[in-house]
Amino acid sequence: MISKKMEERLNQQLNAELGAAHSYLAMAAYCDSIDMYGCAHWLKAQAKEELEHAMKFYHYIEEQDATIKITALPEPKCTYSSLQEVFETSLKQEKHVTALINAIVDFAISEKDHATQVFLEWFITEQVEEESSIIDLLHKLKLLKDSGEGLFLFNEELAKRKED
Ligand code: MG
Repeated sequence: MISKKMEERLNQQLNAELGAAHSYLAMAAYCDSIDMYGCAHWLKAQAKEELEHAMKFYHYIEEQDATIKITALPEPKCTYSSLQEVFETSLKQEKHVTALINAIVDFAISEKDHATQVFLEWFITEQVEEESSIIDLLHKLKLLKDSGEGLFLFNEELAKRKED
């Protein structure tokens, strides 16, 4: 069993993960609109991953015999001026999610809720990977600046992302 407060925190996180999916899909739409199909593909895969994260929370809340609450999502940022801005926004978003996860871990520790603490461990590792892969893409974008050939190759590389 989890506490009512923990139920609330986990539901907030479930909805935050759905919000992240929503936001990645809006970024993908921008990339499709500027014909950067590889980047759009990468961002759509990212959106799918966020949905999977949301479902992990969904199943955990259900397993704990608590109540799942799906809420309205805020409208995501839809207008971008560059790929740089897209990936900077996604890094900011991931850092925000990391902070939210860390806060729930702190709360689980304070409640001596070991089960939730163990459940959240996977997310801590996942967030390190998420941030690192986006930082890597931002480094590449910085290196190639406005090189058309470089952007072409960057887009091709992102098109190769495999979906699980
Ligand atoms: Mg996530």
